[in-house]
Formats: sequence, structure tokens, C-alpha cells
Amino acid sequence: MGFDFVIGLDKVGRQDIKAAGGKGANLGEIIKAGIPVPEGFVVTTSSFDRLIQVHNLDSKVQDIIATTNVDDTSALLVASQKLKDIILSYPVPPEVVSRVIEAYGRLSNHDRNHSTRSNKTRDFPLVSVRSSATAEDLPTASFAGQQASFLNVKGEYKLIEAIRKCWASLFEPRAIFYRAKHGFSRASIAVIVQEMINSEKSGIIFTIDPTTGENIVLIEAIWGLGECIVGGEVSPDLYKVSKDKAGVERIIDIQISKKTKMRLRDHISDNTAEFDVPENKISVQVLNEEEMLKLSRYAVELEEHYGGVPQDIEFAIENNKIAILQTRAITTTVKEQNKEFELAKGRTVLLKGIGASPGFASGRVKLILGKDEIREVQSGDIIVTTMTTPDLVPTMSKSAAIITDLGGRTCHAAIVSREMGIPAIVGTQEGSKILKDGQKVTVDAYNGIIYEGETAIDRGHVQQQKLEGMITKSPSSLSATTVVKVKVNIAFPQRLEEISSKVDGVGLLRIEHMIAQSGIHPAKLIREGRKEEYITILMEGIRPIAYAFGSKPVWVRTLDARSDEFRNLKGGEDEPVEANPMLGWHGIRRSLDEPELLKAEFEAIRRLHVIEGRTNLGVMLPFVISTEEVKKSKEIAKQVGLPDEVKIGIMVETPACVMIIEKLCQEGKIDFASFGTNDLTQLILGIDRNNENLAKISSAFHPAVLRSMKIVIDTCNQFGVETSICGESGSSTEMARILVRYGIKSVSCNMDAIDTIRAVVSQEEQDRNATLD
Ligand code: PEP
Ligand code: MG
Repeated sequence: MGFDFVIGLDKVGRQDIKAAGGKGANLGEIIKAGIPVPEGFVVTTSSFDRLIQVHNLDSKVQDIIATTNVDDTSALLVASQKLKDIILSYPVPPEVVSRVIEAYGRLSNHDRNHSTRSNKTRDFPLVSVRSSATAEDLPTASFAGQQASFLNVKGEYKLIEAIRKCWASLFEPRAIFYRAKHGFSRASIAVIVQEMINSEKSGIIFTIDPTTGENIVLIEAIWGLGECIVGGEVSPDLYKVSKDKAGVERIIDIQISKKTKMRLRDHISDNTAEFDVPENKISVQVLNEEEMLKLSRYAVELEEHYGGVPQDIEFAIENNKIAILQTRAITTTVKEQNKEFELAKGRTVLLKGIGASPGFASGRVKLILGKDEIREVQSGDIIVTTMTTPDLVPTMSKSAAIITDLGGRTCHAAIVSREMGIPAIVGTQEGSKILKDGQKVTVDAYNGIIYEGETAIDRGHVQQQKLEGMITKSPSSLSATTVVKVKVNIAFPQRLEEISSKVDGVGLLRIEHMIAQSGIHPAKLIREGRKEEYITILMEGIRPIAYAFGSKPVWVRTLDARSDEFRNLKGGEDEPVEANPMLGWHGIRRSLDEPELLKAEFEAIRRLHVIEGRTNLGVMLPFVISTEEVKKSKEIAKQVGLPDEVKIGIMVETPACVMIIEKLCQEGKIDFASFGTNDLTQLILGIDRNNENLAKISSAFHPAVLRSMKIVIDTCNQFGVETSICGESGSSTEMARILVRYGIKSVSCNMDAIDTIRAVVSQEEQDRNATLD
């Protein structure tokens, strides 16, 4: 019969996987090895089994599993929901509740540091509550990561709720699928409850230099909680420590950076918030030498514990006490050792930073300080910028190297560069000030050094290395299918087979590129009675994409060219000269003034739909500000004979559109709404998106933009209208995360971002239950 319902983490070990799950057993082992981990206990599989037993749930569960075809995604989703509902609808057996509360009470009793509170009620500690899968599920270690985990849980009721949700996550679609494919009929689950650490310092330890593959310990550290490292908002201190099996590690390098921000937990609300680091701590070394050496020792021990597999370890320090929060394998390593960069010898060093993506490069500096400069990047340029943003990602692929002022090894620039195999040096602090546009430089991104002058580079040196970073779970645990759809913004028929297999549709097909290639302004074609030619241009442009995506939806946007954009085309000279084309005659307002344009666009879609069977095409109306615009567009669609089943949606790009979204859903009967954050941001913030001087204050993450999107998502969800995003920020993992949390139904990103967006969406879905309201 074995285990009690609850057992201390320090009481379990390797042999207890069946009762404590893989994660629990492992934590027990590393505690035994003397590694400090936050205090906690395991709610063993006996507790879950008890729930099944007392409520007689086994046959109900097995019936559903036995009758579900797991290869049918929608059937799998339905079964998963039913099973989770079953688990959540039965009360936790009282004998389990009392053991959990008792163990939680023991944690509360030695609650360390919260005595300053005025709160007279019993002071429960904040805990993390994480699922721990059992033996059958362990062949892929990552599988454990597919189940729920909750942070900052507080109070008895919320703790029990979190445990129930962890139990329910045993029936996540992926878990059911996995077990079915591996022939596991029954499964159980343990839950780990651990105290949360309110870090004064935190960071990441790598047991191998992830950039060079050098066998040393590398530590990144910042003030406060660890989140700022991953976001790249803060350049962490960097310490290198030699590895020594006998335990005599040696510090070999200390690089102190300016850490201007930190996240801390507010003791009153228990929320975390960002603060400015006090002046007198900004340039102060975060870890003392004793801490560096201790952390290195733990890291070496952990690596040994995991059979010599290099680890990426999260740590936190509170009240001078170190806690190891998480360790995971670094999934890829640099195979080829770094060769001496002979050519750089004797050259003047211009600047140093953190080598974040290995390789050498040489070329012309292209400074990117505003959005416009992105377009000026030539193939082979070395991009120098404060921090990379998602809208820079497509351009980054052309560049020979990336240099940023900010960021550490896990920041956006570092991760994206590594994924693209482009050498990158991050956290130079002042690269964008010191390096000049057009200057010739040589980049040694193994060692984080930028030299003056050009050098002939052997491209064979450039190595690609992928590291987990933006995503905190192993890529293999993330799903290729997600409930929130991942779509792509596309303009040209390129890499269609590959792209269409990876995404759930096209969230924005811009027709402007087809027109630009035709060389003639469509308004001229219409004026000259050459409407058929316009229809043909559109059909030819849309057709390959419509076919390539099969039954997956492709949203074609009606014309949205600004009057200045097509001036070079034949007929462009007749376009009106506007003082502010961005705010001018474009989008649906123009199409309604020149309805023959819109008719031709609808006609192209009608023919593809009716004659060629491309029933996956939808229509997206840009720059909408009124319900009337939608109604009139629909009337025109009717006149043309566009079948009712063709979905017609709008782009949400104006504050007006946000404010009338309810009316648009109700009276406009829109089928979908997609955020054009490029315009929405400029219009909400009052910042011309073409003005590079203002780029630094233009951000789709501004609370006003985010709030607008939240309002639209909530309203559309009430009306069952699909929401999506197709602006550049849809390619930002951080934005995808936020919008998935808001309840968006699809995210459309640039081609290069598909994999990372899918990974983030998948991870976010796995963690979705993580916040207990
Ligand atoms: C947008 O505004 O976010 C958008 C996708 O449209 P465009 O960039 O073409 O204006
Ligand atoms: Mg727009």
C-alpha cells in the first residue's frame, strides 16, 4: 500500500517515482546530494488514487479514454475536457485535505520573513504547486513538463484548488495522446508543493558556456526576481568560474553590467512589480565571490547528478540563502570547439559585450535606431541597435551579425540570433553610441569582442546553436498543434509547402505586393475600364496561396495602400498629394469611395471560391472606423455575388474601431477581428510610425494599446467573433503570451517567427491554468 497521502520532499528519493512522480523523486535526490531547494512536500499519487477510488471514477475515466480516437484532434479535445471536468467536479477526499493542510501548516510555521505584516490572520506562505508525472510517463523527461504548475499560491483553499487542477492536467490532450500511443492505460499523478522564494538576487547558471561550448560554469545574475533576465530587459552581471571535479572552482572572469531595473514582490499585495534599481546598486556586483563559488559547486554537482548532461539552472537568493529553483538540460551544445581568431590579432578593440550567439563576422555597421532604418539594411550588414525587436527579425536574417546595447544571453536578440545562426554580441551598453553607421568592423561573437576594420571571414566558422531561452520548457514537450491558432502573414508565394504545413492559416495576405509587382496602379486600371486586368492580377497573386493552404483559412485584405506608396507605379502620379497619407485616403474608406476597386477584389475572391473551390478564402477590411463601412462593404459583396459563407472580418487598427467593437460585432456581424498593431499603436499613442525619432517611445506594449486589445478580445469572445493579430508585434513572443492570456483565438506572425510563436502559445496553454484568480 506504500505511501502516505503527503510526504516531505526530503523524504523521497530515486526509488519513489511511483509515489512522488519524476519531479518529486528528483528533487528528493538533489536534496540528498546537499543542494538547497525550497522547502516543500509531495502530495503523492496515493492522494490522486484515493480521489478516483472514493468517487468510483475509474470506469468513467477508462470508458472515455477507450472510446476516444486520439488521432482526431477535436475528439481528443472533447475527451480531455470531459475528463478534466470529472476530476474537478468531485471533492478532494477529506483525509487528503487534512494531510495537505497539516503539511502546509508546517511550512507556515517556519515561514521566515513575513513577520512585518500587520495582517493578524494566519500568515500562509506563498507556494508553487507543480504536477509531477509518474514512472510510465518518464521515458521522455520532458513529458513531466506538460502538466500544470502554479506559482504564488496562497491559502488553504487555493492550495487545494491548485492541487485539483494539477490532477486534472493529467488529462491534458497531449498527455492522453502520449499515453495512448505508448500503451499506458492508467496513470496517476503526484503534486509538489514548495515555498516561493522572494529573491533579492537571482539568475541563471549554465554548466557549459552556451556560446562557445567551453567547459566552464557561467553565471548571470541580477537584482530581484529572475524574470528580467529572460525578457532581456536587464543586462545581467556575468561571472565565469572554472570547473573542478575536486571542488576547487576558481573565478576566472567577472563582468559587471548596469542593472537599471528589477522586479520585486510587494509584501502587501503579493504581486510582482518593476522598480528602478537604486543609484548606488546599479553598477554594483550582484554576487559575492562566496556565492559564485557555492553556486558553481551546486551546478557541477547537478550536472554530475544528471549524468554529465550540461544544465541550465535557475537560482534565487533571499536573506543570503541560496535556493535552486529549477534545473534542465541544455538541449544543444556547440560541437566544434572555438578556434583562435587569428585574424583579429593586433587589431584595435572597439568594444566588448557578451558573446551570445557564436561566430565571426565582418562588414559595415548599420545602425538601427528607428523603424525606417530597418529597411535600409543590406545583405551582409552588421546590425547595431539598442535591443532587437520582433519587427527587426525578418531583416536580421540578412545581416552578418547583431550587436545590441542591452540584454543578456537569454534576451530576444540572443535567442533569435542563435536560432538564425547569426553571430551576436549583446549587452555592449553603448554599442549604438560608439559604433558609427557605415563603419567597417570585425565581430568575434565567441568572445564578445568588436574590432576595428574589416577581415576576411571563413563562413564555415559560423556555427548555429539553439538554446532554450524564450521558452522555458524543452521544445520536445511543446505541441505542434495548439488551441489558439498560429497563422502567418504572407505576401509572396514563397516556401508555401513548408509554411502551410506549420501554421493554421494565413492571418493577413496583403495584396499590395501583387499590385506593386504589376507595375500599374489599380485605380488607373479601373479608370481605363481595365477592371478584368486588376481581377487577374489579384487572382494570380492569391491563387497559389489559397491552394497551398488547402482548407486552412486565408484572410485576404482589401486594398490598403497609402497615397504616397504607389506613386512610382503607372498611374501613381494621379494619386492625391496628402499632408498625412498615414491618416489619409486609404483602407476601407477609399475602397468605398471607389467601389469599383472593392468590387474587383470581391470578384477575384468570388471566382476563386465559386469556380475554383477555394472556400478557405476570407475577406479582411482595413482601417475600419464605423459599422456603416462594414455594412456598405457587405452590400457591395452581395452585389458582386460573393457567397454568404465567405467570412468577412475587419482589422482593428483605430481607436474608433476599439470603442465601437460591440456594435461592429452586433450590427456589423463581423466574422473576425484582427489587430493591426502597427496602426493601432501609432493612433493610440499619437506617434507617426514612420518617424524614427519617436520609435523609442512607440510600443505596442503600451498599457493603452494592451488595454484596447483586451477590451476587443473580451467583447469579441462574448459574441463568438474570432480575434487575431496581424501587426508586426504578433511576431513577438511576449505579445503572443499576453494575448493568449487575454483569450485571443489566433496569432498571425511573420514566417521566421512561426516556430517560436507556436512554442510560446503551446507553453502558455500548458501554463494557462497557472494563475489562480
Ligand atoms: C497594421 O497596421 O498592423 C497592419 C498589419 O497593417 P499595415 O502594416 O499594412 O498598415
Ligand atoms: Mg495597418
